[in-house]
Amino acid sequence: MSTIDETLLNEARKAQKNAYAPYSNFHVGAALVTDEGKIYSGCNVENTSYGLTICAERNAIFKMIADSGKHTISRILIIGDTDEFLPPCGACRQVIVEFSDENTVITMCNRSGQMKHHLMKEVLPFAFFLGN
Ligand SMILES: [Zn+2]
Repeated sequence: MSTIDETLLNEARKAQKNAYAPYSNFHVGAALVTDEGKIYSGCNVENTSYGLTICAERNAIFKMIADSGKHTISRILIIGDTDEFLPPCGACRQVIVEFSDENTVITMCNRSGQMKHHLMKEVLPFAFFLGN
């Protein structure tokens, strides 16, 4: 495991412990590193109306924007309470691609911290993007 993957895993696990998930009881953590080396993490935050729930990945990305504006995500790691390698949901894939380039890596983890790495373009081929 590379140093950055170990750091992202630790940050994601810390955030995962703060997940607010009383409805699904599914605790998710995410952590990303930008092209400038800054790290942001997030957890899922559920709501009694369900539809207002935010995923860990988008929580981390919105923290990045609030803290330091637009950056390119170099890597983003996701971990949940599952033996499966947890992929980002469709909504999160669309938000991740907004801040990605051709080298952005998505790291899916299982609960024991094993990892699978994929390029963003593999995770969301033919992404909708107007550009800016
Ligand atoms: Zn999501």
